[in-house]
Amino acid sequence: MSDYSKILVAVDLSEDSAMVAKRAHSVAAGINAELHVIHVIEPLSFAYGGDIPMDFSGIQDEIHQQASAQLKRFGETHEIPAERQHIVLGRPEVEIHSTAEEVGADLIVVGSHGRYGLALLMGSTANGVLHGASCDVLAVRVGKS
Ligand code: AMP
Repeated sequence: MSDYSKILVAVDLSEDSAMVAKRAHSVAAGINAELHVIHVIEPLSFAYGGDIPMDFSGIQDEIHQQASAQLKRFGETHEIPAERQHIVLGRPEVEIHSTAEEVGADLIVVGSHGRYGLALLMGSTANGVLHGASCDVLAVRVGKS
């Protein structure tokens, strides 16, 4: 098996994201893999079932701008250049899969909270990414156990 050449790190921009990026860096180190980062913004209409009586486009734009600025800072901190920073609107699992295919990633790195009980039944982004991924997926344990 050859080494990974392109690694896509998925971040929710929470404080756990630094740990996920550090782990991706340690995998990439030494094998000269290219690191990409993605953050997915979920449209407000998803939360309201697509049937909203108000126009949320201003708020949505504001969220987009703030997330873009946060991702830019994150990229600078973790040495991932602007052209490898991806900010997309949609469902995290779906967009992570399609961006991985677009950039030709052979590894996706996500955080995983090690849920159990009801929370496990409800699923997680890490689970969603694992199911249906066309490349390897590394789940980095984050958060308190
Ligand atoms: P969750 O299971 O939703 O708590 O998320 C666990 C991991 O999924 C995070 O550490 C990220 O790697 C990834 N993730 C969750 N939400 C997003 C998002 N909006 N954009 C990109 N990655 C995400």
